[in-house]
Amino acid sequence: MTSGNTYDLVIIGAGSIGVPVALYAQRSGLSTLVLDKQPSAGQGEAKTAIGGIRATHSDPAKIRICLRSIDVFSEWEDREGDDLGWRKGGYLFPIYTEKDETTLKGLLDVQKSHGLNIDWIGPEEVAKLVPGIRREDLCGGTYSPDDGNASPLKCTAAFSRVARREGAEFRFNETVTGIEVEKGRVTGVVTDKGEYPCKHVLNAAGSNAPEMGRPVGIELPVNPDSHEAGVTEPVERLFDPLIVDIRVTPGSKNCYFYQNSANQIVFCLTPDPISPGTNRDSTAMFLPVVSKKMVDLLPKLSNLRVRRVWRGCYPQTPDGMPIVGSSREIAGYHYAVGLCGQGFMLGPGLAEDVVSLIRTGKPVTDEKVFESFRLDRDFAVAEALR
Ligand SMILES: Cc1cc2nc3c(=O)[nH]c(=O)nc-3n(C[C@H](O)[C@H](O)[C@H](O)COP(=O)(O)OP(=O)(O)OC[C@H]3O[C@@H](n4cnc5c(N)ncnc54)[C@H](O)[C@@H]3O)c2cc1C
Repeated sequence: MTSGNTYDLVIIGAGSIGVPVALYAQRSGLSTLVLDKQPSAGQGEAKTAIGGIRATHSDPAKIRICLRSIDVFSEWEDREGDDLGWRKGGYLFPIYTEKDETTLKGLLDVQKSHGLNIDWIGPEEVAKLVPGIRREDLCGGTYSPDDGNASPLKCTAAFSRVARREGAEFRFNETVTGIEVEKGRVTGVVTDKGEYPCKHVLNAAGSNAPEMGRPVGIELPVNPDSHEAGVTEPVERLFDPLIVDIRVTPGSKNCYFYQNSANQIVFCLTPDPISPGTNRDSTAMFLPVVSKKMVDLLPKLSNLRVRRVWRGCYPQTPDGMPIVGSSREIAGYHYAVGLCGQGFMLGPGLAEDVVSLIRTGKPVTDEKVFESFRLDRDFAVAEALR
């Protein structure tokens, strides 16, 4: 089947970035088609995210983009009516070593200079925010009260509902197999079911992004690695901030958890060593390691019952930063890939940049700041707060 329409934009992937781009693209007047191999939106890595949303980064582009995302998440219910499960609980990094204290304090100037509301707080204030937190060796921590959390499932449903209302089309159960290029310009997208003529294509294929670059000779250094998460039964409210515990312990680099709008504790672990690949089977090691770590930090969690665990992938880049831009060689080919462990929080803010790139060749975010997302950057230097 060949579509009779020539779309302005075809998006490969209805995920954390593809869906908000569809919304803003269609709203800006670009006729937009989203293709996904799965049966509905958000069935890739999007549904595996635990819902943390922070502008607390060390990279200026991420700070600014996530500040815009937070505006979208926090204002959505008033504007569009959907409950996203948004809670402005803040982010707290409790700190237990001088080395970590120095590192996090060293980031504050740059974070504040880009508009982030963050500060160092002492141990008393940390304990007030999280009653019962481990006090031994507690130096204090950084606290950014305007960060928050929301339900990735509710967000995908709401964003795609509004994208459709604006006129964007979605086609599911359709795998993109090729991209057509004539005289150095994108002319269409080929799937296992048909062909769709278009002027622009966006590679938003998450963990499969490299496969959608190779047909046009573009190498995208995205290598997924597996991460596990879980959710408990609901309990009385225990604390508000999302807590990031950066203490390295056997089997893990860090863990983070928060209490969602349904009062469940949602948690995630960064395994050590990392687990390269796309294995989505839960491991026997995850729950023992993560629960030990969480209970050590907050002993009152010890009697909580876990309802469910799952495993998904970070579409990882060598430096922990996304890769976003437009091909110089092939007009009309764009990519928003390698969103690592932050695609959900970056989604709405970054979508504005992507649509602007497609329409005008420039992002919304200051161009100089946005350079940290370039494909031709030096990937050797990792972000401090990745
Ligand atoms: C355990 C865990 C916890 C996480 N927690 C958070 C968090 O708290 N906050 C946060 O911001 N991020 C979090 N993340 C990261 C987040 O989930 C990802 O960064 C994000 O979902 C990536 O978005 P994406 O749009 O690039 O990919 P996806 O959401 O995976 O979307 C890509 C889409 O492309 C489709 N696709 C791929 N290839 C093709 C093809 N050939 N044809 C058609 N369709 C195709 C896929 O089916 C998929 O739907 C977490 C991840 C994990 C695993």
